[in-house]
Amino acid sequence: MSKPIVAIVGRPNVGKSTLFNQIGKKRVSIVEDIPGVTRDRIYLDAEWLNTEFTMIDTGGIELETTDHILTSMRHQANLAIEEADVVVFVVDAKTGMTAADEEVAHILRTSKKPILLAVNKVDSPNKENEIYEFYNLGLGDPIPISASNALNLGDLLDQVVENFPKDAVDEKEADEISIAVIGRPNVGKSSLVNALLGQERVIVSNIPGTTRDAIDTHFVKDDTKFILIDTAGMRRKAKIDLPIERYSVMRSLRAVDRSDVVLMVINADEGITEQDKKIAGYAHEAGKGIVIVVNKWDLVEKDDKTSLRFTEDLRDEIGFMQYAPVLYTSALTKQRVHRVTDLVKYVAEQQAMRIQTSVLNQVITDATAINPPPSHKGKRLKIYFTTQADIKPPTFIFFVNEPEIMHFSYLRFLENKLRESFGFEGTPLKLIVRGRK
Ligand code: GDP
Ligand code: GDP
Repeated sequence: MSKPIVAIVGRPNVGKSTLFNQIGKKRVSIVEDIPGVTRDRIYLDAEWLNTEFTMIDTGGIELETTDHILTSMRHQANLAIEEADVVVFVVDAKTGMTAADEEVAHILRTSKKPILLAVNKVDSPNKENEIYEFYNLGLGDPIPISASNALNLGDLLDQVVENFPKDAVDEKEADEISIAVIGRPNVGKSSLVNALLGQERVIVSNIPGTTRDAIDTHFVKDDTKFILIDTAGMRRKAKIDLPIERYSVMRSLRAVDRSDVVLMVINADEGITEQDKKIAGYAHEAGKGIVIVVNKWDLVEKDDKTSLRFTEDLRDEIGFMQYAPVLYTSALTKQRVHRVTDLVKYVAEQQAMRIQTSVLNQVITDATAINPPPSHKGKRLKIYFTTQADIKPPTFIFFVNEPEIMHFSYLRFLENKLRESFGFEGTPLKLIVRGRK
């Protein structure tokens, strides 16, 4: 089931990112501290009352269209209404209500989504009279909070969780592989999907998905069942409902959440963009499989080393995702389009692979013999035992004498050894280090 999405909207400097970091604070582990993944986040996983959700700071989403604050806030508000399950509108008690607040409130009021109004910077409990003017925004009872002092955040989160939709159902069959197709407008996602589904011996059926207007496509190819998760009305031909075709980050994140494997489509003559990288980072952290599709390959003048060079450049760009296979396609000439499902299926199998404990421990023992574990203040790290705790993504627990001595670069080394020995192509791995007494 996909996690509910909470969007945080508000003027610059009202404290959105402070709030964001307070709420999402507790999920830290060694594997997630990967350079390039954690920097400049726009989303965070959070949990409250045993309910997990994804939180998005809409202020962090770059909009290509404008840098004008009011225009950008209108965009934010619209994005949030379209994509989030709950919208938290943050205003600032210190500056009071502004014209921009009123404008955004006006947009938010027209939506059917639950909107919570958080008045930030109410730094002490007796300052609550500061919130009264915000009743004028017409969004119900303002909730006083102090993001920096972590005051009243529990009340806010209670209301967030209460407002999650209750009817989310998981329509996925156990043996279906779900695919999210991600990428900027115009890279050829629709063309690719149509080429894929237009192939012989593909049996297609459309079933309404869980999310309002999205239509997921179920299809069977070579006896394997797939679901194509609809993003941005991919199969809708007329894209005239939006003034500017946007790369809807929230819609993409939602699709990634529901997927097993992400197809990241990029344009051969543009390469990978910042927005692509953020979504790829999200897929990586969520443990999803990933295949990079370089489309419009027909437009590139090639010699026998072109794809090799392109792949090298790409790998430089996406340091943390070296494991993703890269496929060069042309939706126009159908070149290699038939390879897409094979590769998706292969990656899904890699994600679900289980390694026998004895074999696993042999590989780790051999690895530590070649490159001994790090030591610190005269103590050397010892890995007693390794076990695979889970699949999708494959998750390994290393039981060690002193977890603090484990170094990121050594974990990277172990990860590389696991990949060398077993493949795990296209899937992130989760490595957990535990102390054993
Ligand atoms: P954003 O632009 O909306 O993401 O705002 P930031 O989170 O960057 O915060 C803007 C400024 O407000 C920073 O200087 C924060 O330290 C400050 N700030 C955030 N939350 C609070 C709060 O609860 N009380 C006070 N007094 N200041 C806050
Ligand atoms: P989307 O916005 O990512 O869904 O992109 P579309 O599938 O709508 O394609 C955008 C434009 O690129 C259209 O004019 C397509 O005909 C064109 N296009 C898509 N794939 C290819 C390709 O492989 N080669 C070439 N030359 N053009 C393509």
